[in-house]
Amino acid sequence: MRILLISDVHANLEALQAVLDAAPVHDAVWNLGDFVSYGASPNEVVEQLVPLQKVAVRGNHDKAASGITDLTDFNPLAVSALEWTRTHLSAANGQVLRQLAQGPLLPVEGPACVHGSPLDEDAYIQSRRDAWRPLMESPARITLFGHTHLQGGYMLEDQQCSALNPIYKQGDRPESFMLKLEPEVRYLLNPGSVGQPRDSDWRAAFALLDLDAMQLEWHRVPYDLAETQAKIRKAGLPERLAIRLASGR
Ligand code: ZN
Repeated sequence: MRILLISDVHANLEALQAVLDAAPVHDAVWNLGDFVSYGASPNEVVEQLVPLQKVAVRGNHDKAASGITDLTDFNPLAVSALEWTRTHLSAANGQVLRQLAQGPLLPVEGPACVHGSPLDEDAYIQSRRDAWRPLMESPARITLFGHTHLQGGYMLEDQQCSALNPIYKQGDRPESFMLKLEPEVRYLLNPGSVGQPRDSDWRAAFALLDLDAMQLEWHRVPYDLAETQAKIRKAGLPERLAIRLASGR
């Protein structure tokens, strides 16, 4: 079973397309949430993903864009993006987002899927300190998460928690990094953000989880950044949302 893992697409259609084009052969697509907000293609992204994905959990932006939650917990930039998205999202696509499952979701294949943390769908896991309890208490040995827009993860072995980070040359070409998954170890694994990376690498991030070979491949792939930025500007979204994509911050 080979699973294409995506997260935090954030209405970036060009990045999603590049990921789908570059993805190695897989049996299923699992999506860890935040389909929309920040980018200018929320409807296209939802409509592209719905027929593809076998497993999907909701992100904090999906909840806010579809009216499940209000905008009080968001910074001013996110509020602008969410207000724009609420205006432009179709009723049918809003309904799709409202019906997404809350994590942790436990597909029969074993790994748990969450947006933020297995203990709180909206919590950020950004350090070994943040990772400790989720690693100990997640309902599954392997937990797949997103939300931070940082590709990487954490492992717990013999009561020792370590950070996991793919190593790249940081070029403008596609690259991948392989992690072997050991049997007695607990993992938190983040495929990174398809549509708005924040780990100083502008390329779209995703991962391939191979449950037969027990390995995870992290991937980065370039996409048509200029087109995405032009759409953001044309839509009247904040300029910062176009600029940040170029630096991956
Ligand atoms: Zn996000």
